[in-house]
Amino acid sequence: MLDKKEIVKFLKETDKSKNSELFNRAREIKHQLCDKDVYIRGLVEISNYCRKDCYYCGIRKSNKNVNRYLMSEDEIINTAKWAYDNGYKSLVLQSGERIDDTFIQFVEDVLKKIRQFSNNGIHVTISFGEQTEETYQRWYEAGAHRYLLRVETSNRELYKKLHPEDHTFENRINALNLIKETGYQLGTGVMIGLPHQTYEDLADDIIFFRDIDVDMVGMGPYLPHKDAALEDSVYNLPTDKEELLTLSLKMIALTRICLPDINIASTTALQAIKSFGREQGILAGANVFMPNISEGEYRPNYQLYDNKPCIDDSSDECMECAGKRIEMIGEEIRYDVWGDSQHFLKKKKDG
Ligand code: SAH
Ligand code: SF4
Repeated sequence: MLDKKEIVKFLKETDKSKNSELFNRAREIKHQLCDKDVYIRGLVEISNYCRKDCYYCGIRKSNKNVNRYLMSEDEIINTAKWAYDNGYKSLVLQSGERIDDTFIQFVEDVLKKIRQFSNNGIHVTISFGEQTEETYQRWYEAGAHRYLLRVETSNRELYKKLHPEDHTFENRINALNLIKETGYQLGTGVMIGLPHQTYEDLADDIIFFRDIDVDMVGMGPYLPHKDAALEDSVYNLPTDKEELLTLSLKMIALTRICLPDINIASTTALQAIKSFGREQGILAGANVFMPNISEGEYRPNYQLYDNKPCIDDSSDECMECAGKRIEMIGEEIRYDVWGDSQHFLKKKKDG
């Protein structure tokens, strides 16, 4: 584990060859963990209804310019079946946050059906925001294995600036702990390049990942959305795309170095700033790739930020494209494994 000072130094480094060294070191650690393997998850954005109003997000509740949708149970199951038939053994289901009984039941039914048709053959990650302990339990028992809930930033004051008053940092931390205690593989992450955010904050984020003992991390650059309400113009971190990408890649690399056996996703937001961004994420130490397999008609309505890539593509196209892209960088997609977090599996084994 690097200390905070060392992490900050790496984050601020402008020497290209030193940065390349950092990425190579992280990639070597990734190779020790899972060789050239890249675990794949089919991402299904099941709904864009949301009760929350996070200022940075394009589908927040107050944005009236969004066509709201909820995929039907059949549509989700058919998508999951398509994925299974095409070799995916892992799915991510994501949506805006809803805590009403109808939604909780809906998700529970969907999870049970996925477990049933695949005969327990698919490991499912869910990302449905902050829920009660009981809901986490119900969804876990219905067949979800992993839960993604980003802390967004580990800086409490910055968290406050990004959210309305009733979205508290305390609740977020409680939620993360509840998820872990329920038995899920815990995934969290942050946005990089937020207004007011500093290099020190980013270093603290990595230390936060370690302290909360995460199993998976997914993070990416903060990207503005035209209807979002984060109007702040105070930026301490680079806003230039190339520099922001490099900073995001360094966050991946440093997280890999500090937490060698967790799963790290190379997120879509990296591709939104540069067409080859996600592949660069893998080269900087990430080992998870999540092609979008949502139905084409819904994709344009799930825009958390502007210029989201692949909204005109089909699931087939995304699958083919993912395979080619990973091959091009000399790594290999593994379809035939669940690709659970080794950190989690080790913890479980050790009791
Ligand atoms: N509602 C769920 C899942 C959907 S949002 C939740 O909030 O957990 C998933 C992630 O998208 C968020 O955690 C946030 O980090 C990211 N996101 C939202 N708006 C973004 C933006 N403008 N730029 C980059 N990432 C964004
Ligand atoms: Fe809703 Fe998640 Fe967007 Fe917040 S980040 S507004 S919870 S979808």
